[in-house]
Amino acid sequence: ILVLAIETSCDETSAAVVKNGREVLSNIISSQIELHKLYGGVVPEIASRKHIEKINQVIEEALSSAKVTLEEIDLIGVTYGPGLVGALLVGVAHAKALSFATKKTLVGVHHIEGHVSANYIENKELEPPFLCLIVSGGHTHLVLVKEYGEYEIIGRTRDDAAGEAFDKVARAIGLGYPGGPKIDKLSREGNKDEINFPRAQIEGAPYDFSFSGLKSAVLNYINSCEMKKVQMNKADIAASFQEAVVDVLVTKTIMAAKDFHMNQVAIAGGVAANSHLREAMVAACRDNGISFYYPSPVYCTDNAAMIGTAAYYEYRKGTRSGYDLNAVPNLKIGER
Ligand code: ATP
Ligand code: MG
Ligand code: FE
Repeated sequence: ILVLAIETSCDETSAAVVKNGREVLSNIISSQIELHKLYGGVVPEIASRKHIEKINQVIEEALSSAKVTLEEIDLIGVTYGPGLVGALLVGVAHAKALSFATKKTLVGVHHIEGHVSANYIENKELEPPFLCLIVSGGHTHLVLVKEYGEYEIIGRTRDDAAGEAFDKVARAIGLGYPGGPKIDKLSREGNKDEINFPRAQIEGAPYDFSFSGLKSAVLNYINSCEMKKVQMNKADIAASFQEAVVDVLVTKTIMAAKDFHMNQVAIAGGVAANSHLREAMVAACRDNGISFYYPSPVYCTDNAAMIGTAAYYEYRKGTRSGYDLNAVPNLKIGER
């Protein structure tokens, strides 16, 4: 089965060709980061317009670098939510038009299921059931992946997503957008034990997360430095903040793995590209006899290859989408 996958949920226009769910023949990503940097974050209207400009070219490139023709494609997979409605609509409308013109089967894909499925690409032996920590720009969830495409949420953030916290703290210390990779890099020059930022626990909900208190603590720390007119060390702030986030993520993930008797753990989403999180998870899983899986950085952040993989498994389950497929900006995990 050859899938042509399309992803336009946020600020990456991406198309990929994926064979039998796990073999990526091409994965073209046109990022708009340089454009949105000017505004310190993604501007939805600009994102939609850019997707329209780029999508044809990106799809053509995905087909040509995979050395496949549109006729050879069996299935068209497209992200239909969650994300920015205008951005999603570009991909959805395009996929529907392609499907209509070529009579190829259409499968709408959940963006977050795509992030989880990114783990299947390079870890050929990974199969459900496993526990997945989803940490992206808009989501922070602990889910049990019971079967392909079957999820049970056991924990979630009560406020900010992990990626959002990275982006906000980066802005506060003047690193610009997107903040995650910049904090990751700057942290290497800092001392992670310099400032003891809070690790939030939520009473009665051991697998839930909260990052807004941590974000406020960082902002307060910066303010107090400014008031006392002491030079703040940005690298120490970045490293100590990152350590607080990673500490909570790793501790809760390992606890959940033990409580739910999962001996396989995976991570997904943009923050899964964080080098400290990856190292800490490798060590914690090794110490606890758990097999740990993670995607290469390019499959952590938004890309169409992961959508192709998710589309394949949805198709195998019998999912088919009609021409009434619509963008669903606030689609929840496990919903269709
Ligand atoms: P969602 O998937 O929830 O809809 P999104 O698609 O915008 O949101 P992703 O593309 O999955 O999010 O991830 C982007 C996020 O990942 C941003 O918040 C970014 O700062 C963060 N991120 C990317 N690389 C790193 C890194 N190395 N360390 C920490 N955070 C990172
Ligand atoms: Mg993005
Ligand atoms: Fe994403």
